[in-house]
Amino acid sequence: MQNCLFCKIIKGEIPSTKVYEDEFVYAFLDIEPQAPFHAVIVPKIHIKSADEINTENSMYIAKIFEAVAKIAKQENLENGYRVVNNCGADGGQTVGHIHFHLLARRNLQWPPG
Ligand code: AMP
Ligand code: ZN
Repeated sequence: MQNCLFCKIIKGEIPSTKVYEDEFVYAFLDIEPQAPFHAVIVPKIHIKSADEINTENSMYIAKIFEAVAKIAKQENLENGYRVVNNCGADGGQTVGHIHFHLLARRNLQWPPG
């Protein structure tokens, strides 16, 4: 989609530090990391938010979680990690292309606040 930051990152029009890529998914380091390891994982199709997941596109979400497991092994995140999706204004979503934060290498508190 035109004027979507993450579509531009996927196309390489905006630089990013790639962590993982396959046919369905692209993952890169967050520019403002909230943990010593903080990647953003996005589907290679434009889905606005979790609110727009449906039977046609949900395979991409499964692929994202397959990527999570691969990245965790690749990055040796054996102590665990957190996967976060922010949806909409109250959820704290600032980029309108669905994405999952993969946070690791620090003890993450719960509830998150
Ligand atoms: P959210 O607030 O859940 O919508 O997350 C958007 C995330 O994208 C934030 O954690 C930002 O730091 C991150 N972000 C924004 N622009 C970039 C960029 N150019 N490269 C990497 N991460 C970015
Ligand atoms: Zn997009």
